[in-house]
Amino acid sequence: RTEVKDVAEYTPMMQQYLKTKEEYKDCILFYRLGDFYEMFFDDAIVVSKELELTLTGKSCGAEERAPMCGVPYHAVEGYLNKLVANGHKVAICEQVEDPKLAKGLVKREVIRIVTPGTNTDMQALDESKNNYIMCIVYLADKYGISLADISTGDYFVTEVDTERKLIDEINKFAPSEIICNESFYMSGVDLSDMKNRLGIAVYSLEAWYFSDETAENTLKEHFKVQSLEGLGLSDYACGTIAAGALLRYLYETQKNDLGNLSAIHPYSTGKYMIIDSSTRRNLELVETLREKQKRGSLLWVLDKTKTAMGARTLRAYVEQPLIDKTEIELRQEAIGELNDHVITREELREYLNPIYDLERLITRVTYRTANPRDLIAFKNSISMLPPIKSLLDEFDGALLKNIQNDIDAMEELCSLVDRSIMEEPPISVREGGLIKEGYNEDVDKYRNAKTEGKTWLAELEAKEREKTGIKNLKIKYNKVFGYYLEVTNSYKDLVPDYFTRKQTLANAERYITPELKELEDMILGAEDKLVSLEYDLFCEVRNKIAEEVVRIQRTAKAIANLDVFVSLAVVADQNNYCRPKMTNSGVIDIKGGRHPVVEKMITNDMFIDNDTYLDNGNNRIAIITGPNMAGKSTYMRQAALIVLMAQIGSFVPATSAKIGIVDRIFTRVGASDDLASGQSTFMVEMNEVANILRNATSNSLLVLDEIGRGTSTFDGLSIAWAVVEHISNPRLLGAKTLFATHYHELTELEGKLNNVHNYCIAVKEKGDDIVFLRKIVQGGADKSYGIQVAKLAGVPDSVIERAKEIVEELSANDITSVTKNITPATAGTKKKKERLDEVDLTQMSLFDTVKDDDILEELKTIDVGNLTPIEALNKLYELQNKI
Ligand code: ADP
Repeated sequence: RTEVKDVAEYTPMMQQYLKTKEEYKDCILFYRLGDFYEMFFDDAIVVSKELELTLTGKSCGAEERAPMCGVPYHAVEGYLNKLVANGHKVAICEQVEDPKLAKGLVKREVIRIVTPGTNTDMQALDESKNNYIMCIVYLADKYGISLADISTGDYFVTEVDTERKLIDEINKFAPSEIICNESFYMSGVDLSDMKNRLGIAVYSLEAWYFSDETAENTLKEHFKVQSLEGLGLSDYACGTIAAGALLRYLYETQKNDLGNLSAIHPYSTGKYMIIDSSTRRNLELVETLREKQKRGSLLWVLDKTKTAMGARTLRAYVEQPLIDKTEIELRQEAIGELNDHVITREELREYLNPIYDLERLITRVTYRTANPRDLIAFKNSISMLPPIKSLLDEFDGALLKNIQNDIDAMEELCSLVDRSIMEEPPISVREGGLIKEGYNEDVDKYRNAKTEGKTWLAELEAKEREKTGIKNLKIKYNKVFGYYLEVTNSYKDLVPDYFTRKQTLANAERYITPELKELEDMILGAEDKLVSLEYDLFCEVRNKIAEEVVRIQRTAKAIANLDVFVSLAVVADQNNYCRPKMTNSGVIDIKGGRHPVVEKMITNDMFIDNDTYLDNGNNRIAIITGPNMAGKSTYMRQAALIVLMAQIGSFVPATSAKIGIVDRIFTRVGASDDLASGQSTFMVEMNEVANILRNATSNSLLVLDEIGRGTSTFDGLSIAWAVVEHISNPRLLGAKTLFATHYHELTELEGKLNNVHNYCIAVKEKGDDIVFLRKIVQGGADKSYGIQVAKLAGVPDSVIERAKEIVEELSANDITSVTKNITPATAGTKKKKERLDEVDLTQMSLFDTVKDDDILEELKTIDVGNLTPIEALNKLYELQNKI
């Protein structure tokens, strides 16, 4: 660490720096010095490392030089974005007076603080994603939550009562920054997981941000209301504090009036299906599990949106499926209607296509950073609105009607921009060329002076030529001297007295005359006046647009929604989806279901459809067996995804479907390699199982894949067994469940528990090989075909052959004696004697081995109903040893 000494020792500039830095201790200070932003002391050390800049020193008055590094101001964005992405806050300290005019030290001020959740730079943002900042307030067992995306103007508030629900919200919105009160920071919540795995920057703020009064006043002032009731916040006491603190923080960092946060939207988490973070990941809703990319996710299949706003909204829909039947049906109706009018639908898509990101654009307009090209993009976008609005006449459903009503064609703004701004303006606002002819008289006048000026110059040139007899006399212009007369050396002798020499070149000389000077003043004066007038007029137009922020945002939301429904309609149409019938009966009945993603990914094979039937009565649990690679997990995910898609309001990949709405979906998928978290696989698995059993309800859908694999066979089987028992019992849980397992023993549960049924995925043997039929059928699988699958996977023949030998040996002998003779790798497995089947490769099963009569006798006397699974297994073990 570099130490800062007595301030008085430093140069005045360094004192100014240190004073500013003191106010922004938690930020890296970008201190503007001429054409550079410079960093000093610790900031310089950190930044030079992270941005790979050279660390130098600056003499600063004190004995030692201050460590220093810098970045050029015109290329600052890239550096800034990188630091912010790494989780830093950066305070931008600008020169706020013209250095040429400053007396003494140039005045400087921090004009903005850029933080991960408040970066509005287009290059740093993904247009298909929101960039949220979340504020969390933890107060007496309640969590107040508020979120904002200042690049789009979205602003939400809610509250929840458990940490788990809070974590669900964090996962749903995936904010890039969280600000919170001290009690949350200290509450024991897993901050390192948020920081490391989810990449969220987390800061705790000082207590005053979270006082009731600060929050209330900030909100009241911002929304110009007398009471918070009008904002719909009366039920969210804790949420209100979060919303107020967030707004305060945004004021402090943005240092502008945040005009684009024009409304706050309270929402209840009870409105949406609950999906925990591992389920979100496992079902690959918006990105794939391994590559973390969109391709291969559900969103990838569903996203045919044409606008950035639509893409973001669709993502939000996928992240939060509904649970209200009516609301879901409204969405279905919209999709249905659009597909009943395919031609109109396609026309709508064409009009949606050129629409620019209005939400982010209006933010730049309200921040006064929108450039002339942004305004043209704005005009071109809103000129699509009238045809869209009138095309929507064709539809009667409530949702599309609302969208139509919300679209405000804003014709007067369109015509304003059309009349005022040039079609292809420069990006810069300070160089003129912005305002169209005919919009403003003075602009036209100054421009004329420019063109007429050319004539005046030409006339003067001709006159002087005549007068002096210098035949090649030319009037030219450059930035340093302005207009001048150029005489080549051959005519030097003819130069009259009233020419004043300005510059001598190798083969020519440059002069001015009083008359030329006069003309120049007129012409250049017009130029300056024109540029500054054009700038003023441009700002005026931009301000007029900024005043309409509410209308523009409402229209943008309507367009986003329309884009989503058109996209869902197109996807349904192209992929042959059906409209699911939604019920509250608890029955899930899918006929001919397909996996929405896998059916798109497999290229050489046809995807084989399958039925799924689960209900709240006798068909609660499906135990699914079958060899590896048969398609078990595809089948289970497919059912979960179909339910989820249905609750988004989308149509689903099936020939028909009845979907009893579920409140939560949980998945536990085998071997999730949660390496980052540093926990053992088994521990992760058990954590997830514990979470599911504790939080699922009888209205939930569970997908459990290979529970209990991470431990010894006996423990694993016992746990799996006990889990099924627990779930199947309606008094304990009674959730609808798809349960894939390698423990064929579990198929014995069918018949023992009335709501458990066995299914397996059919395979066909073909000589030494197997063919996957991908069809789900009733009944348990009796073989695991592990060796055939290993062969398919390309395990070397020598290993396959050896494995076959071992299986044969194992099948033929008591395993304990065999293990003594075979390789150590398998010596640890505790298996028992196996009845020889006609087929050599039978999987060993605990249950079809009993032959001895007295063992049978003993079995008969066991009161199975009163045994715990563990006792049952111990008993079995005991019996087995008697064989
Ligand atoms: P398991 O879970 O039984 O090991 P998976 O569900 O991972 O098997 O399926 C393995 C592969 O089989 C999938 O990647 C997919 O390519 C293919 N597959 C699965 N189900 C089907 C199906 N219904 N139709 C066609 N191919 C399928």
